[in-house]
Amino acid sequence: MTILIELVKDIKTRAEEFGRPIAIVPTMGALHAGHISLIKMAKAECKTVVVTIFVNPLQFGPNEDFNKYPRDLETDFKICQENEVDIVFAPTKEEIYPDINKIEQDLIVPPDNLASVLCGKTRQNHFSGVCTIVKKLFDIVTPDYAYFGEKDLQQLYIVRWLVKTFTIPTFIRACPIIREASGLAYSSRNKYLTEEQKIMASNIYKALKLAKQNIRSGIFTINKALLEGLIFLSQFPEIKVEYLDARDKEDFSIVDKNKTGGIYCLIAANVGGVRLIDNIELQ
Ligand code: AMP
Repeated sequence: MTILIELVKDIKTRAEEFGRPIAIVPTMGALHAGHISLIKMAKAECKTVVVTIFVNPLQFGPNEDFNKYPRDLETDFKICQENEVDIVFAPTKEEIYPDINKIEQDLIVPPDNLASVLCGKTRQNHFSGVCTIVKKLFDIVTPDYAYFGEKDLQQLYIVRWLVKTFTIPTFIRACPIIREASGLAYSSRNKYLTEEQKIMASNIYKALKLAKQNIRSGIFTINKALLEGLIFLSQFPEIKVEYLDARDKEDFSIVDKNKTGGIYCLIAANVGGVRLIDNIELQ
């Protein structure tokens, strides 16, 4: 049976009652196949699975979609029931941030080399918001394992930094990106897209695959492969690329231009005003 908990004071004891190892799957709700894959992996490895649903105001900029972000707790709860989640933890904003005006002093700020690049360039303070909520959720739930999607690759590296820096005894598990048949990565924000825009958006993944192919062929340097990806996308004026870049798999640093393996290619692009991210590993 799946139980819904809204109060911080209840969650820790209830999770302990279900038994360890405890898994946490942090989400902002509007659950889809990507989230379900995380839940399945957590179920396979842990005794108790806690899915958290919290649209974290701290990780949204002033001109972003916090107010219109899709929220449907009833459907999310049903999905969790169907997937045999033990606990859905869906706290209110007040429960998590009793004094949000004074949050500045409690913000966890990840280092610039991880957090002020790529998505962090346009989404200032986004990753501080992510770190602050993830640390809070970890403190509340005390999970043994935490499941994150590779879809949000930069976030994954930053969460690894968080766990290392604060010596948090939680294993971080990375889960592969789940895609629609078209190749478009599942995202709660896909709900904002029309069917036509979704088809258009699937070219984002095509560009990533092209970069991969070009690196595999052995004749392209990483910079040339990225450029070819941009040239491919330039034929679709509806897709506005924010960045198409590469990072070293090892430590998320800027890649040596002669490197051909252990590289991630990452993209952020806007389609119809909807910001989408995706990435691929280049071997
Ligand atoms: P969100 O609700 O968007 O904050 O996402 C919650 C978790 O689900 C994050 O760890 C995401 O990386 C992960 N996630 C979102 N979309 C996907 C996807 N298409 N495939 C795999 N994981 C995903």
